[in-house]
Amino acid sequence: MSEKIAFIGLGAMGGPMASNIIKKGTKVSVFDINSERMKKVTEVGGTGCKNINETVSNAEIVITMLPATQQVNEVMLGQNGLISQLKPGSIIMDMSTISPKGTDEVKKECDKHEIHFVDAPVGRLVSHAIAGDSLFMVGCDNEIIFKKVEPLLNAMGTSIIRCGKVGTGIRAKVVNNFQILSIAQITAEALTLAQKLDLDLNVFKEVNAGTTANNGQFHINFMSKVLKDDTKPGFTIDLAHKDMGLAIEAGNNFRVGLPVGSSVHAVYSQARSSDYAKKDFSALLDYSCELAGVKPPRIK
Ligand code: NAD
Repeated sequence: MSEKIAFIGLGAMGGPMASNIIKKGTKVSVFDINSERMKKVTEVGGTGCKNINETVSNAEIVITMLPATQQVNEVMLGQNGLISQLKPGSIIMDMSTISPKGTDEVKKECDKHEIHFVDAPVGRLVSHAIAGDSLFMVGCDNEIIFKKVEPLLNAMGTSIIRCGKVGTGIRAKVVNNFQILSIAQITAEALTLAQKLDLDLNVFKEVNAGTTANNGQFHINFMSKVLKDDTKPGFTIDLAHKDMGLAIEAGNNFRVGLPVGSSVHAVYSQARSSDYAKKDFSALLDYSCELAGVKPPRIK
């Protein structure tokens, strides 16, 4: 690509996503406040920068993949924020999962500085980000701008879903994660009960897969993580708690009651008050088993 690209936030997701762009032969200036994470990306050819100013200097497209609304605001807004440092006509593509209200505020600030904004939060797991198989929910109804970011999205993933105008990507992400994270907790409870009832999990797995109880949390996520005795993140319980909070906040703002989701949010809230906070969210199974005094199941 001829445009100058910058990438900020090189964590569990951002690291492999930036690396995949670089591996396609594009030059990328990169920055993370965590030097270990930055090293992993400079080792594959990213240009490491000292701070945000240096990273976005002369950049035409800036990608951000940060933990939450607070970090996105810190990086984007204010006197030293990157919005005030970019030239009019540049593009910011935020891929973080943040509150829709936060996205709307960033978009408003971009408009004031004549900067184009695209929200493109990411679906699927860290393993997909590493493999370059991610799914993107894109909020952008300007075709010229979409054409400019499309090659970058293609370098990082395999599914691009155009959700509509700016802000629709993040709204789709919040609703979809609400469902994923609630199903994860129901799956954890079901498997805890199955274990307590002495069911053979390999047989129960077959039963489940053949009925409408079949779900990706059991058969893809839990099967590749906690059931294989791997609770390294992945997607942490801390971030899952944040995303459930975004859905509950949206429900409150728009007077949509989410009673089951509110209970699930409370479970994430309780789990993150212990050392489960930094474990993969599939470790909800171990947490549920711990509370029930059941040995956590594993599948060979
Ligand atoms: P992470 O915590 O691993 O990575 C975030 C990175 O941002 C960290 O490396 C951190 O050092 C960096 N950072 C924080 N503040 C910064 C700042 N001011 N300047 C520069 N860098 C800064 O999180 P992640 O798992 O990579 O998730 C990133 C986003 O993607 C989150 O919004 C998350 O909800 C979302 N997401 C995660 C997954 C997943 O499976 N992990 C999947 C889809 C979406």
